[in-house]
Amino acid sequence: MPIPVVWSPETRRHEPMREVWVGVPTDGTELPERVDRILDGLGNQPRVEAVVHGDEVLRRVHAEAFVDHLRTVHAEWLAGPYDDLVGQDRVAPYVFPTPAMTQGMPLTRATATHGRAGQFGYDTMTLVGPGTWEAARAAVDCALTAVDLVTNGAESTAYALCRPPGHHATRDGYGGSCYLNNAAIAAQALRDADAGRVTVVDLDAHHGNGTQAIFWERDDVRYGSVHVDPGAGWFPHFFGHAHESGSGQGAGATRNLPLEEGSEDAAWLDAVRELAQFADGTDALVVSLGVDAAAEDPESPLQVTADGYAAAGRLLGSLGVPAVVVQEGGYHLDTLGGLVAAYLGGHEQGSNG
Ligand SMILES: [Zn+2]
Repeated sequence: MPIPVVWSPETRRHEPMREVWVGVPTDGTELPERVDRILDGLGNQPRVEAVVHGDEVLRRVHAEAFVDHLRTVHAEWLAGPYDDLVGQDRVAPYVFPTPAMTQGMPLTRATATHGRAGQFGYDTMTLVGPGTWEAARAAVDCALTAVDLVTNGAESTAYALCRPPGHHATRDGYGGSCYLNNAAIAAQALRDADAGRVTVVDLDAHHGNGTQAIFWERDDVRYGSVHVDPGAGWFPHFFGHAHESGSGQGAGATRNLPLEEGSEDAAWLDAVRELAQFADGTDALVVSLGVDAAAEDPESPLQVTADGYAAAGRLLGSLGVPAVVVQEGGYHLDTLGGLVAAYLGGHEQGSNG
């Protein structure tokens, strides 16, 4: 059975416009066109349009104040003086109440929209514009619809074409081009549907610090990731090191396999194999499928091929458990769709034994 592709036209509504990286405005690469390039690459797979879901699972993963902020902040920005003051319509933070500022003191809610922006957004690259909330919320519906397909027994595996991606979004905030954590929401929904233990395997070139943070102290959802070594200077810098393995009840339930810059299929697949072993015995699987580890991708120095992605799919598919594959990064428009197709083809093959 070909793996169904759950998508929503609403996910095209977020336009990043620009990112501000080390003080320099650069063009955003997380473009709406990604949706169409992936759909083109998956031309032979059946398509399912996402069904709108309520906020119950979303609010189990993300804090209410953060969700409310993301939903309303762009309208608030438009109603303020910002278009005149700064000449642009994107919500962009400039002050961040990190511990360097707060020093353990309780925060008072910032009244200014441009002040509050830095409480929920943790970098300068992830701007909120018209349609950002709608697209991010639709991506959550894609993930939840994919979960429905596997939990109601209609499918053993479903793919959610989520855009914007989600694995950098934490319980309380957004960053790294991610707003709502689609993979974490899928994992929580699988748990709520009675999967005893869920494992998230993250193949994106970057560490999924948001997903790791959300499940850091839990043992019912395990998190394993292969990614370019943040210690070599890559986002998210502060997280994704091999020594991070969870805490409290979640001690040992996080596994990080950072790779050297320039790593090719062999090293990457060794890590994927280790993650498949880490996931062994799980009742359900969520794959955070970033294809930005590919050689052509402009956002990372890893050198994985389409054959590598297909082999990763076979490894994870052969676990033989219900799986929801969630789209994360992948920015090289000409090869993006083929890489996703390669992974899904491999996963399908692996799950057929
Ligand atoms: Zn990435």
